[in-house]
Amino acid sequence: MSSDLAAIIGRLIQQIGVFNAAVARKLSIAVEQLEAAKSVEEYQQIGILVRDTLIEFGQSIYKENMVSQGATVPSNSDAKRMIKYALDYYGADQEYLGYFVKTCYDYANAIQHDSSAKRESVFRVLSMTTLCIALVIEAVIQSDAYTRRPYYKCPNCGSLELEVGEHWEADYDGAFKMEKLVCVECGWFYIEELGGVSGVE
Ligand SMILES: [Zn+2]
Repeated sequence: MSSDLAAIIGRLIQQIGVFNAAVARKLSIAVEQLEAAKSVEEYQQIGILVRDTLIEFGQSIYKENMVSQGATVPSNSDAKRMIKYALDYYGADQEYLGYFVKTCYDYANAIQHDSSAKRESVFRVLSMTTLCIALVIEAVIQSDAYTRRPYYKCPNCGSLELEVGEHWEADYDGAFKMEKLVCVECGWFYIEELGGVSGVE
């Protein structure tokens, strides 16, 4: 790949790593493998890795409460649907970004099955997917649903992996639901509706 493009892809992967280290690691491995790859089988293998990276990324941003009533619940490997629901949930510009996700996924999938897979195609799908993931992260981070959270990162350990979960509290006429922000890394939590109750689980 050209050195300018390689540098841009490298910086994007770094940026993705701030949000999701595992996904960034997979993309870096794909870049390394592409540098060394020579055979069709090796190119196909990178196609699989790119597809798996999209699946892992989808799993990381999708939560069950993002499925709207009557909508299909995505399978554990349905990256396109998981990312689409996450974009919908965060109210991001989901339509065209969703197309981009679909294009990247289908392209990676096609390379996996292409018995004449070429270096150019693998480089293209890897670049597209890296940019796509960076754009989805950007859309999520800049969405109102994300920024209106009182905490952007965990005040206990500094992790960016804060999950919004459900919390049930007994009300005078039954249980009522509220959002609970939980740190995936250390178990720190915050419940805004209860006057900002926080602690470590
Ligand atoms: Zn934490």
